[in-house]
Amino acid sequence: DRIISANFMMEDQAVELSLRPRYLAEYIGQSQVKENLKIYIEAAKMRKEALDHVLLYGPPGLGKTTLSTIIANELGVNIRTTSGPAIERPGDLAAILTNLQEGDVLFIDEIHRLHRTVEEVLYPAMEDYALDIIIGKGPSARSVRLDLPKFTLIGATTRAGLLSAPLRDRFGVVSRLEYYTKDELSFIISRAADILGVDIVGQAADELAVRSRGTPRIANRLLKRVRDFAQVKGDGMITESLACEALEMIQVDPVGLDQIDHKMLRSMIMQFRGGPVGLDTIAATIGEESQTIEDVYEPYLLQIGFLQRTPRGRIATPQAYAHLGIPMPDNRS
Ligand code: ADP
Repeated sequence: DRIISANFMMEDQAVELSLRPRYLAEYIGQSQVKENLKIYIEAAKMRKEALDHVLLYGPPGLGKTTLSTIIANELGVNIRTTSGPAIERPGDLAAILTNLQEGDVLFIDEIHRLHRTVEEVLYPAMEDYALDIIIGKGPSARSVRLDLPKFTLIGATTRAGLLSAPLRDRFGVVSRLEYYTKDELSFIISRAADILGVDIVGQAADELAVRSRGTPRIANRLLKRVRDFAQVKGDGMITESLACEALEMIQVDPVGLDQIDHKMLRSMIMQFRGGPVGLDTIAATIGEESQTIEDVYEPYLLQIGFLQRTPRGRIATPQAYAHLGIPMPDNRS
C-alpha cells in the first residue's frame, strides 16, 4: 500500500476513530458546503422534517463519511452506514430501508457502484418514501406499495459523473468536497496531534500539511508515522527538521509525491516524450489499476498542475519536468 494513497487502509482505523470530528464546528474547511448544510439542517429541524437527500462527491479521504456522521449528529438522528457494492440484492436494500426510523440518515458510500436492480428500489424510496413490492408471478402478479419512514439518504462518490441521471436527479443537495488548503491541513494536523498527545511545532505541522496532497486522511497518516519516528529517533517532540527527516525516509517528497508518482512521471517523460499517454499504458508501466490511478492518484496531480488530461491521453506539464529536474525538449511547450 502506498502511504500517500487517499484510500482507507487498516492502519488508519484506530487513529481515524479517535480523530473524526463529530460536529460541524469541529469540521475544518469546506466552508461553502458547511454553510449550506447548516441552513438546510436548521430548516429541517425547525420543520421537524427529514433533511433532503444529500450527494457528496470528491476524491477519497476528504471527509465524506465524516460529514455524513456529523449531519446525523447535528440532526440528532441515527445513521446507518453501508456501501454500494455491499448491497447485493434489492431485498437487502428493502430490509435496510424498512428498519430505519423516522428522520434517520442512511449513508451509502460508493453509491455509483450500486447494482441497477438495487438502484431501482431507491427511486420510489427517495421520492415518495415508498417501497414497491411485487407479489405473485405471471399474470396474477401485482404491485403493493409499502410506506417507509421519512429518511435522509446521503450518497458519497468519488465521481458524480458515474451516477445514473435518474439517481443524481433525486438528490436535493449536491455538494462537491474540495482539496484542503495548506493552512486547513496544518490546523487539522495540530488538532490531531493535540488529541493524540503529541508535541508538534507549527513549522512541522506546515511541512506535513504541504505533503498531504490536500487530504486529511493522508495528513493524519503522515502525522502517525512521523510521531513514531520522533519517539524512536528524538525525544517525542516533532520539530521541523525531524519531520523533514522522517518524510524523506518514508519517501514522501516536498509536494507529497512518492516513488511511484516519480516513476510514472519519469516514464511518461522519458519513454513517451511527455505524452499524450493513454491511462492504460501508464497503469501498465507502474503496475497499478487504471481505475485506481484515475480515482485516487491522478486527481491530485491534475490539481497541482503536473498532469493534464486530453482526449488522447495524459500529458506531463512543464511543472512536472521542473519538479523532476528534467529539461523540457524544445519541440514541446
Ligand atoms: P472519505 O469518506 O471522503 O473517504 P473520511 O470522512 O473517511 O473521508 O475522512 C478521513 C479522515 O480524515 C477522517 O477520519 C477524519 O479524521 C479526517 N477528516 C476528514 N475531513 C476532516 C475535516 N474537515 N476536519 C478534520 N478532519 C477531517
